[in-house]
Amino acid sequence: MNIHEYQAKTLFAEYGVPVASGVAVQSEAEFDQALSQLPDGAVVVKAQIHAGGRGKGTFTDGFKGGVKIAKSREEAKEYAAKMLGNTLVTHQTGPQGREVKTVYFTEPVDIEKEYYLALTLDRATSKIVIIASTEGGVDIEEVAANTPEKITKVFVDPASGLQNHHKRTLAFGLGFSAKEQLKQFDRLISGLYQFYWEKDCAMVEVNPLITTKSGDLQALDAKVNFDSNALFRQKDIVALRDLGEEDPKEIEASKYGLSYIALDGNIACLVNGAGLAMSTMDIIKHYGGNPANFLDVGGSATEEAVTEAFRIILSDPKVEGILVNIFGGIMSCARIAKGVIGAAKTVEINVPLVVRLEGNEVEEGKKLLAESGIKLTSGDTLADGAKKIVEEVKAAKSA
Ligand code: GDP
Ligand code: MG
Repeated sequence: MNIHEYQAKTLFAEYGVPVASGVAVQSEAEFDQALSQLPDGAVVVKAQIHAGGRGKGTFTDGFKGGVKIAKSREEAKEYAAKMLGNTLVTHQTGPQGREVKTVYFTEPVDIEKEYYLALTLDRATSKIVIIASTEGGVDIEEVAANTPEKITKVFVDPASGLQNHHKRTLAFGLGFSAKEQLKQFDRLISGLYQFYWEKDCAMVEVNPLITTKSGDLQALDAKVNFDSNALFRQKDIVALRDLGEEDPKEIEASKYGLSYIALDGNIACLVNGAGLAMSTMDIIKHYGGNPANFLDVGGSATEEAVTEAFRIILSDPKVEGILVNIFGGIMSCARIAKGVIGAAKTVEINVPLVVRLEGNEVEEGKKLLAESGIKLTSGDTLADGAKKIVEEVKAAKSA
């Protein structure tokens, strides 16, 4: 789960991480009241969307920049008015962009230098990796590819936590040596680490972390992602969730306990088990197709959940074919069949459908589907099913 920059900065402040003061607004009516809380003069106006690269982004009406430095309150209001309700396209939003529903006014800072700092989980070592670079404000992927020597990494064992040697290595990598700066960095990284740990973050990215002309450190941007599996014990974080930023199909799916992630392709997959879902996507690719989603109905999905899964899949206009791939270990194939039949009663399945069932109650499942009169092709194996759906989608397209 992601949150907005302004929300992340409020949390940062609670953990003693320095951020500029700011006020978020959702409508023009709030502009004056919000701006009166900031010092008179220049104001930074920042579009709030769950995507980075806003500064270099362009709105669909041609207005440039989702991060603007206004010289006056009047100018700040003009920029904010242009942003609200407008759609911002950045290299992270995809070409359709994201509608800006919140704008954040912040007090501007004089930047001396921009740095990069991030905390995330390193699955290979089961440790928290802290990544720091002297090259801030740019894509870290680019830095990693072109100048990897400018990146410092430390791996923190969660059992023992952040140690002084970690902090020293990072500070050294960033080139901090003045006593006051080291003290500030110590507080900042300790606060970020504690925040990451206590709030079950999956990633905290500060890009850029900056030094001001007077030598102080500050988190100028904040991107935070939380581990969805831990949200049950993070009620205050869940309260920050902005459903407007999430794919409505994914929200619907989560209500029914389905793990659904929308992708760019045209072949929908309905699978039980995350591993099988991954291999189903791989094999679709292998036969020249493109998966439209990742959908794991789990081991204990009800008939209603399966029906709902179908409804979600079919509400995606990109979907041109569906592959159902079920291995009935815990899941009964008959229940899947009933779900498919239930779905066919409420929504029209107007694209090719291939069903591959195997395992628990497979005969019963196949029988139910055969008797239902639903138009479908059955696949014998995973490979066979994938091959058939790719072929059928191709045939339907050229027909
Ligand atoms: P992003 O484009 O979505 O990553 O948004 P950021 O919050 O990182 O802002 C983009 C860039 O705008 C930063 O890298 C800075 O160079 C610049 N910027 C943002 N806030 C300020 C500010 O208060 N003062 C100055 N001088 N530049 C700023
Ligand atoms: Mg940034």
